[in-house]
Amino acid sequence: MEPRKLYYFDNNATTRVAPEVVEAMLPYLTEHWGNPSSAYQFGRGVARPLDQARAQLAALINAEPREITFTSCGTESNNTAIHSALLTQPGKRHILTTAVEHSATLKFSQQLQKRGYEVTFLPVEPDGTLDIHLLEKSLRPDTAIVSLMWANNETGVLFPLEEVAAICRSRGVLVHTDAVQTAGKLKLDVRELGIDFLSLSAHKLHAPKGIGLLYIKRRTKFMPYVVGGSQEQGRRGGTENVPYIIGFGRAAELALEHQEDENVRVRALRDRLEKTLLKTIPGVSRNGHRERRLPNTSNLAFAGVEAEGILMLLDQLGICASSGSACTTGSLEPSHVLTAMGLPPARARSSVRLSLGRYNTAEEVDYLLKHLPGIIARLRAASPAAEAVPVRAPKAAAAR
Ligand SMILES: *Cc1c(COP(=O)(O)O)cnc(C)c1O
Repeated sequence: MEPRKLYYFDNNATTRVAPEVVEAMLPYLTEHWGNPSSAYQFGRGVARPLDQARAQLAALINAEPREITFTSCGTESNNTAIHSALLTQPGKRHILTTAVEHSATLKFSQQLQKRGYEVTFLPVEPDGTLDIHLLEKSLRPDTAIVSLMWANNETGVLFPLEEVAAICRSRGVLVHTDAVQTAGKLKLDVRELGIDFLSLSAHKLHAPKGIGLLYIKRRTKFMPYVVGGSQEQGRRGGTENVPYIIGFGRAAELALEHQEDENVRVRALRDRLEKTLLKTIPGVSRNGHRERRLPNTSNLAFAGVEAEGILMLLDQLGICASSGSACTTGSLEPSHVLTAMGLPPARARSSVRLSLGRYNTAEEVDYLLKHLPGIIARLRAASPAAEAVPVRAPKAAAAR
């Protein structure tokens, strides 16, 4: 039987591993399986390709190779940056972050709060953007670190990292950014940005799951989170995940090559998809700022229908999309991101995220556009509350 065609519109959850990445990794799973810390040639020989991968990733973010520390994932990178800032500045016990962070920052900060640290979770505007003056006012003399995501995984909304970094630098406060969603989609330049820590995850960049990195600016005081051997300049214990690091490096190279495509071709696909849905289906509205967001993400509310129902019917057609972040799917709680933007729970629960990527085609967008209007009509007809659905989208502030 032919495998069913997959229509994958969930690239913010994870991405297909690029064939070039698989190809680059294979020799390190088969022939070159030595330990780079070994003294003999068979092991030591793996150290050089490891350095090459580090250089490829440094090039992606305009860092120096020695500023790159490999970790097991984006989550570990976020935890590590915050943890280090607290340990290296024992007198500072305040963390400044936002209410819309990925759970890798949010839950870790909440746990630290239980351990006696103080955390400010900044609210966001109805369009998901950040009030920079509020951030400035919330800085305290005992703020150890400001940790902000660059691009939101649910809405794609971008935070003004350059401005945040400038403010923090002038106040002598460390800055970390979770740039997991930004990599490969927008230009990343840590020099220009002037930040201290930056997290990336390979599986959002067409490489495998279970590998990430933390950029640590030169001369930044640092304490490891995973303690053990002296790998990664003593910054992260554990034998290097050689094949995955090699794959991550190749993915970084490809990301640079495809960055332009992501901004032109993928953006055009996303815009056509979004515009058509807004125009052809009544009661649809966008969540998040229209311009200040990633070129691949569209988060839409379908008034009067539960996202769960939409996703189930899409799934039957081989279409993958999501509501909220994948990490919270299965719970009936409305998305914490949309809730923080002030969306009423019903609208948050009717919201679907469509996230495109390198491998999406115009035909796939056509397929989605052909089926989604019927799905919404069908669900509305079946819903007992259907009469209450306004034909026009409610004029919520977040729709701007
Ligand atoms: C996926 C994601 C993470 C977590 O990365 P993992 O490698 O899955 O741990 C962190 N932050 C953002 C914004 C993400 O989208």
